[in-house]
Amino acid sequence: MTAPASPVLPSAAWIEQLPASVAMLVGDTVRYANAAALRLLRAQQPGDVVGKSVEAFIHPLDLHRALARLRHAEGGGINPVTEIRAYTCTGAPLMLAMSSAIVEMDDQRAVLATFLDMTERAAMEQRLRQTDEDFQRMMNTMQDVFYRTDAQGITRYVCPAVKNVLGYTAEEIIGLPAAAFYPDLAERDALVAEIRKHGAVHDFPGRMRRRDGVIIDISISTQALRDERGNYAGVEGIWRDITERKRLERQLEHLATRDSLTGIHNRRSILSTLEQRLQRKAPLSVLLLDLDFFKRINDRFGHAGGDCVLHRFAGLIDQERRSRDDFGRLGGEEFLLILDGADAAEALQIAERLRAAVSAQAIALPDGQEVQLTVSIGLTQAQPADHGASDVLLRADRALYRAKQQGRDRVCG
Ligand code: GH3
Ligand code: MG
Ligand code: MG
Repeated sequence: MTAPASPVLPSAAWIEQLPASVAMLVGDTVRYANAAALRLLRAQQPGDVVGKSVEAFIHPLDLHRALARLRHAEGGGINPVTEIRAYTCTGAPLMLAMSSAIVEMDDQRAVLATFLDMTERAAMEQRLRQTDEDFQRMMNTMQDVFYRTDAQGITRYVCPAVKNVLGYTAEEIIGLPAAAFYPDLAERDALVAEIRKHGAVHDFPGRMRRRDGVIIDISISTQALRDERGNYAGVEGIWRDITERKRLERQLEHLATRDSLTGIHNRRSILSTLEQRLQRKAPLSVLLLDLDFFKRINDRFGHAGGDCVLHRFAGLIDQERRSRDDFGRLGGEEFLLILDGADAAEALQIAERLRAAVSAQAIALPDGQEVQLTVSIGLTQAQPADHGASDVLLRADRALYRAKQQGRDRVCG
């Protein structure tokens, strides 16, 4: 029989080897600090800590709270962990998690405290908080709308900026299908198909319906999200309201293709339209219209009066033409009407109708004077041997010349 092994009892040396920091305080004075505590506080020797007041090591703003905690443990109770800002012997800041208990030492009431260095964790939390604040600030002020949907197309996140663009708050949108805001579901389907095919889209055009019902143009840049198994898990990206950009584009296009005096196609635009129409190789007629004795109108009513006549004449033809036909000003008082699909007989009929409409109605100037206007029209058809608009225009010009020769106010083909 062997005697039972006696329990191993800790000794003071055992506390010295403890990896955790331990200190003993009597009153506010440190009476003992183990090796780990001295290391943590960057002490060169025990005297840098032992014998000092705890005030030397605790941040003034946390001192009151820390001392209250240290004194509070009653009846052998253990103080819960509290975080305090502290200093090393060299004055470097530390974040400590401290817990403490009251013990009796040689009939003296003492506090046994353990503490853990939380400086790294506190710095990490601070960085995380900073990152999160930066993210939130960016999301709040962004002009673009950042969003994320799940695989079912349900919106899981949308940034607060969406309120400025759609009129709905983020909370109203989160949980709803993204498709609910598309005026045309086919556009949403095309977007999702494109993302699934290529993994991402850039500046994909789309439209959305605002809370007030107005449809806006948007541009979407988005990528597919994958789960850990590589399965499609939704999309994440941004979209941008480009309604204003579209409006400016249309305005620019209008400025570039319209004649400023009459509002109809300008020379470049009507000639490029003619080239396009000719490439179709379908039946097509053109009318070249030139106002008769326009110099006299300018002489009699002034240049401004002449401009007004040009404006009214263009308006009249624009109103009388068939909607499928294109009408433009070649320059001066010369105009071109492209009659889509019209053969010679049909074109002649239309030309006659227009000529008669012009001569039938006097044009009233703003000052009340009336101008009796007539127009001569040269007519021609596109032919297979034509090399382009210039061949067609040359024939139309010759026909127009004949109309002038034959006394004006007439149509010649
Ligand atoms: P015709 O019957 O032979 O065509 O006689 P016309 O007087 O109309 O002769 P022509 O076509 O050669 O003259 C065109 C005139 O149109 C010359 C020019 O002073 C005038 N004109 C050209 N552009 C403008 C314009 O933008 N505004 C005004 N008010 N007059 C213009
Ligand atoms: Mg003329
Ligand atoms: Mg002329």
